[in-house]
Parts: sequence; C-alpha cells; structure tokens
Amino acid sequence: MKISTEGLKSFIPTNTINELIESQAHAPESRVRDIIAKSLDKQRLEPDETAALLSVSDPELKQLILQGAHELKERIYGNRIVLFAPLYVGNECVNDCVYCGFRISNKECVRSTLSHEQLIEETKSLVETGHKRLIMVYGEHPIYSPEYIAETVQTVYDTKYSKGEIRRVNINAAPLDVEGFRTVKSVGIGTYQIFQETYHEETYARLHPRGPKSSFLWRLDGLDRAMKAGIDDLGIGALMGLYDWKFEVMGLLYHTIHLEQTFGVGPHTISFPRIEPAIGTDFANHPPHRVSDEDFKHMVAVIRLSVPYTGMILTAREPIAIRDEVMRYGISQIDAGSSIGVGDYSSKDEESRKKSQFVLGDTRSLDDVIYELAKSGYIPSFCTSCYRAGRTGEHFMEFAVPGFVKRFCTPNALLTFAEYLYDFSSPRTLAVGMELIESETARIEDDNMRQSVRDKLASMKAGQRDLYY
Ligand code: SAM
Ligand code: SF4
Repeated sequence: MKISTEGLKSFIPTNTINELIESQAHAPESRVRDIIAKSLDKQRLEPDETAALLSVSDPELKQLILQGAHELKERIYGNRIVLFAPLYVGNECVNDCVYCGFRISNKECVRSTLSHEQLIEETKSLVETGHKRLIMVYGEHPIYSPEYIAETVQTVYDTKYSKGEIRRVNINAAPLDVEGFRTVKSVGIGTYQIFQETYHEETYARLHPRGPKSSFLWRLDGLDRAMKAGIDDLGIGALMGLYDWKFEVMGLLYHTIHLEQTFGVGPHTISFPRIEPAIGTDFANHPPHRVSDEDFKHMVAVIRLSVPYTGMILTAREPIAIRDEVMRYGISQIDAGSSIGVGDYSSKDEESRKKSQFVLGDTRSLDDVIYELAKSGYIPSFCTSCYRAGRTGEHFMEFAVPGFVKRFCTPNALLTFAEYLYDFSSPRTLAVGMELIESETARIEDDNMRQSVRDKLASMKAGQRDLYY
C-alpha cells in the first residue's frame, strides 16, 4: 500500500474551533434550552451550538444538559444496550504512538499474532460465553494486509461451535487504501472503526512520530476512502487525554459534518475512550490532558445531543461506576467480558499482561454485566438483524424511521436476550432476565406485535434459535 496525501486537505478548522470555544462561553440558560430542544427535535447541532454546550460551567446548566441527553436516549433509543467483545488478532506494529502498549519502541511488549488454530480457539471461547458481536483489533503491520484481515474475519464467521456463532464482526484496524477497503468489505464486515486519536494536527504530529500513522491527513482521509470503497458503516473516535477534550468533541463534530456533506451519511458510531495505563508506556500513566470523571459525563451528554442519530460506544476501559452512570446519557453499545491481550480468551498465561494493549477498568464476566444490566432495567441485546437483513445503518433506522424501535429493535433485543438466557446464562441471570423479558413484552403496545413476540419466545423455549424481525 502506497501512502499518498497528494490533493488532500484537512477539513478540521483549528482556528475556528478555538474561536468558537472561546466566543460561545457563558451561553445564557435560554440558549442552552433552545439548543437541547433542537437536539430533542432530532436535528444534528451546528458547531457554534456544540461549542456553547461544551463551554457551560454553571452546575445547574450542566445538569440540564445531562437531563437533555438522558431524555433523548430514552425517547429515541429506549432501554436497550447492545453487547460486544473485542478480539485482538495481533499486536505487531510499525508505528510509535506514544500512548500505546503495542508501539514499536516498547521493549516490554511481548509480540504475538494468533495462528489460524488460535483464532478459532479464541472465537470458540467467545461463542461459548454467549457473544454474537465482535470487534477484531489489529496493530498496523505489513503482515496485517487487507487480505489477511479479510481471511481472519472469514475464519471467525466460519467457526460454528457449541450453541452459537459470531453473527457480526466489526473492525478496528489501520486505515487502508480504497482497494484494501474493498477487499475487507467483501467478507461482510459490520462497522470499520478508525479513531483519529487527536484532531489537533500539531499534537498529532508530536504523538505519532514514526510509521504510516504519522500522517495526519492519510488517517483523516481514511473513512473517506472506506466510503469510496462502498463501506458506509463507519466508526469515528478520539482518544481522550491527548489534547483538550472540548477541541476533540468539536473535531468529532466536524468529521461528522464532513462525512454527511461528502457522502450524505454520517458516522454509524462515535467512540471517546479515555487513555488507560499501558505496560512500558509512561505517557499513558500521565496523559497531558486527562479528562476528569465530571468532564467525561458532560462530554458524553454533549456528544449525545450533538449527533442524535449516531450510536455511542463505551468500552470496558472505564470503571464500573462510570459505566453505570454515563449509560444514562446516551450510550448504545458496551463491551463485556473483554480481554485485550492477544490469545487471552482461550489461554491466559503469565505473559498475557505483556501482550495487552492497556489495562481494563471493568473486568466483570459477560454474565455478571448482563445480570447487572437486567437488574437495572436495561435490555441486553445481541441483535444483528439489520446488518444481516441488509438494513445497513441500524442506528439511522432507529432514529429516522418512526416506530422502528418498537417494530424491530425492542422485539429483536428481547429475542436475542432470551436466546442468551436459554443457552448461556447463570441461574441468577436467567431468573432476573426472564422477569424482565416478561415485563417488557407486556409493555409492547401493539397487540399483534406483542403476540408475535410471545409466539417467537415460545418457539425459542421449544428449541428454535436465531429468530428475528
Ligand atoms: N492499530 C490500529 C490503530 O491504531 O488505528 C487499530 C488498533 S489500536 C490497538 C485501537 C485503538 O486503541 C487506538 O485507535 C487508540 O485510540 C486506542 N488506544 C491506544 N492506546 C491506548 C491506551 N493506552 N488507552 C486507551 N486506548 C488506547
Ligand atoms: Fe500501533 Fe495502533 Fe497502538 Fe498505534 S495505536 S501503536 S498504530 S496498535
């Protein structure tokens, strides 16, 4: 792959962002209310509006923003949480991102790439716990070519085991060229996720000193190339702690607007991971712009309100208490039962820590997370139906099609949750889960739909699987 930035121009207006953050400070309550109302009316916010929300410091106005985000989530998306797990395929890397345990100069990292057999074992271990959706993660290295990525995704799809199989694979890997994206698309991936890390170009140059990732423009253009290759299900993200978080949120918004304006479709998901400690990586222990818990909550709420149609991902990097709280403000997907070392699911050894990218904040099992979710009234969902029925961009559907959540998402969440409970859960999760399914089914307003869901649940109890709308 030849990296070329000829003809590329950044669409991140650094000076304008700085000016907006400054000029929009101290918005009065009436303006904050108007902006929240616009978002609740399902309109994406403009940069000056997002800047105004970001700059709010008054505790009461901040509370208003949190409430607005909570209301938007409840109104549009309801109480489902989609679950997935990361699968690390290999940690070889030619880049030197200063915050990452996999960076080339990290001598403490034990390098490893799953063999074909190990990949099957990892997949089986995940299937065995009940997972249906994965994100496969790769370092950046010539051995992880588009063909290799496609082959490994296919291996995962082909692995049927015990009572299940993986039904949707998303990717987090280096940006490819258009041809490379086409190759990966051909095996039927879900979302292709690339984080810009920081949208501040100067900071980016300092923190990515070596390798192909040192080109800010090549990375920024990555999702454009994916679109050109026909992948319209894309995830954007920024790694929080590298630069001012308000600037990064503005960067995410400008990226969103750029994709909307260029391709008529915005990002499918937005991620905003905070930097976690990583072995042999001092920078990650002391990130220069650490985001406090207080700011993190505010940030999640502002992102929710700014791009009401997108999915929002919160990973197990975050500790349990934070996960529990910010879920209220618009999170649609979380990972659970995650391991982030290469080969960890099937064979954890004493070297595992040295093959891991960073340290997780939430190490509960999938079953424990599901138990807690159900107890709190969330419906855990393993739904892959839109993707498999060719309805691409499920979040857009949820958002744009009136009644879509009631007709598709909630019933599918209930069915996939029931499948999990029958096949994989512990007795205590089964008890809490069945009670939730019963009460949620009873709440379905449409008589025909309620009956149809009850019928499908009965078929499932009788042994049928993989039922969806
Ligand atoms: N190598 C590919 C890349 O860099 O795009 C994809 C895999 S990389 C392992 C996935 C993401 O992990 C990166 O985009 C970065 O945001 C995140 N990451 C790296 N170091 C981290 C750390 N110390 N804490 C939290 N996230 C980190
Ligand atoms: Fe390599 Fe990605 Fe880690 Fe950078 S973030 S060192 S590219 S694995």
